Amino acid sequence: MSNSTRVEIPDELQGQVAITTLDRIYNWSRRNSMWPLMSGLACCAIEMICTAASRYDFSRFGMEVMRPSPRQADFMLISGTVTKKMVPQLVRLYNQMAEPKYVVAMGACASGGGPFKEGYSVVPGIDKFLPVDVYIPGCPPTPQALLNGLIKLQEKIDGQTIKKDAHWYRKEPTLPIPVPILGPDLIDLRNLPEIKAAATAEIIDTESGLREGSHE
Ligand code: SF4
Repeated sequence: MSNSTRVEIPDELQGQVAITTLDRIYNWSRRNSMWPLMSGLACCAIEMICTAASRYDFSRFGMEVMRPSPRQADFMLISGTVTKKMVPQLVRLYNQMAEPKYVVAMGACASGGGPFKEGYSVVPGIDKFLPVDVYIPGCPPTPQALLNGLIKLQEKIDGQTIKKDAHWYRKEPTLPIPVPILGPDLIDLRNLPEIKAAATAEIIDTESGLREGSHE
């Protein structure tokens, strides 16, 4: 049944029977109980905490179960500067979350590196590693902006359909994102072929340089 199909309810059943689509009831129940895995990494976290407190109170949207745990979390709320040191932990936690799962990048730092974009220790946005669903601009975003971003996430869920979007019901397993390794710099294992090719080219260059040097 498409969303536009209208079904008449007989008079005697008015007020007792509601007819809807499976997608709508499925999304309604999910969007009204989105529990965040909080990930407060810097100053933006203060605004996130403020949004959870009584003045703004995101429990009005069914989001009050905010814990630093992937267990039963529906989305990861990344608020603050994402350092290279934190990325392996964030990716590991994301992998541990059950599907369906979402990611919200709160603030300029989480979305794109913010004022620390060129910094040696900061990644230019968590979307280099995790699939971000909603970006919230601001440095820091106000509690109203965060609420607006969370409503956008609810709207995204409203638009999903079990047939097209619910890849979590498919038989094939969802592959985890390889956890990056923090060495002298952050190594994204998905780029391993490029890293290997660059290292091999450098070795060849060095060896040919040495050979030329020994002929002189
Ligand atoms: S976006 Fe601004 S307020 Fe938020 S963590 Fe970065 S520097 Fe701090």
